[in-house]
Amino acid sequence: MFPLTSFSDFQLLAPLQRALAAEGYTQPTPIQTQAIPQAMAGRDLLGIAQTGTGKTAAFALPILHRLGKSGTTRKPGTCRALILSPTRELASQIAESFRAYGKFMHLSIDVVFGGVPIGKQIRRLAPGADILVATPGRLLDLIDQRALSLRDLEILVLDEADQMLDLGFIVPLKRIIPMLPKKRQSLFFSATMPNTISGLADAFLTDPVKVAVTPVATTAERVTQGVMFVQGGAKQALLEAVLRDESIDRVLVFTRTKHGADRVVKHLVKSGIEASAIHGNKSQAQRERALGAFRSGNCRVLVATDIAARGIDVEGVSHVINFELPNVPESYVHRIGRTARAGAAGIALSFCASDERPFLRDIEKLTRLPIPALPLPEGLPADAAIIRESQPARPAPHGRQGKEQPRGGRPHRRPNSPHQRPAQAEAGAGARQNGRR
Ligand code: AMP
Repeated sequence: MFPLTSFSDFQLLAPLQRALAAEGYTQPTPIQTQAIPQAMAGRDLLGIAQTGTGKTAAFALPILHRLGKSGTTRKPGTCRALILSPTRELASQIAESFRAYGKFMHLSIDVVFGGVPIGKQIRRLAPGADILVATPGRLLDLIDQRALSLRDLEILVLDEADQMLDLGFIVPLKRIIPMLPKKRQSLFFSATMPNTISGLADAFLTDPVKVAVTPVATTAERVTQGVMFVQGGAKQALLEAVLRDESIDRVLVFTRTKHGADRVVKHLVKSGIEASAIHGNKSQAQRERALGAFRSGNCRVLVATDIAARGIDVEGVSHVINFELPNVPESYVHRIGRTARAGAAGIALSFCASDERPFLRDIEKLTRLPIPALPLPEGLPADAAIIRESQPARPAPHGRQGKEQPRGGRPHRRPNSPHQRPAQAEAGAGARQNGRR
């Protein structure tokens, strides 16, 4: 379990605490526990954390708190807090998080990125923004067109710095530095910290506090692990077949998304298997009810997302089933650690579809253990099984083993491929452009 800090320990403004309760957050994640008090104290931060750790709230909550508390107001054509993000998808997600946490406050939140006409963004920025989320290229375009000035900036966040560099944003970032006021608070986040990134961090930060979420690299020793290779479309049937085994008496099923969790539960219930879901979209009462039934043994299947599962402390989980493999390998270790607690033995089963093979490889690389493949149970359609590898390893020239290249549709760990150029990344499809509320 994580330390039993609660959000109320941080003494965030009341509207923020209300919003957190509405989001169903009960306990801060480790990066939040470490970063929020330091950022609230006004310190610069160097955070090493991946997406999925709760790092957005780790910087969004102190920012909302600080802006909400101070008497200053935004001035035309300026912003008070700026969050730089490498891609438009991430920028939109960050702005959505700010809106969710700030929904009982009266701060203006805007997001700007490339690939869409600039005119509307210029007009929206005319009265200024309290919080602006931006990709670096479009930010500079807006500054060059005199639609925005950074002279009144109070807080700067640089998110996913390593991806910024991968995407070739080093030049725009270096151009932004001299435009920043000397007196400001800066928060810098990156999943990795090679020398180039720490050099960049030095340019942005003053006497930063370093916070890091240590990746867990060892799997619980007493957990027996196995993987079943299956067509994505046959996973639900596979889950039902596996759950027919009565020796599985308390099982946590993991999905990557909240909707995925709801879908799995809906299908299980339809086929007569009692199950409930636990995730951030559920009310506190719903979560408590689901957990209570799981603890008491009235409901033996609980379907959860990674973050929701963090607050779950249930003894006697006999099985963990990864209905979907996590895209962050450390999450696998956290997930399977939910079974085999207090010295008991546990079993972790993973369902791996063809597009998840790269995730499996990342997991095996992290844990340094191959996960044995298991045959599918009987009763599934004949074409449900897939072979372990999408392509046989071909011998490389000179007899050396070729480096494996995942082919076709590798699910990204991050929103955009590092090989995309900034313009493409900023123009990436699928994001909604969010105006100020
Ligand atoms: P992030 O790493 O910021 O992308 O966050 C990952 C997910 O965790 C998001 O869906 C957040 O809404 C959720 N989340 C962040 N902090 C918490 C928390 N303390 N409790 C529950 N969910 C959280």
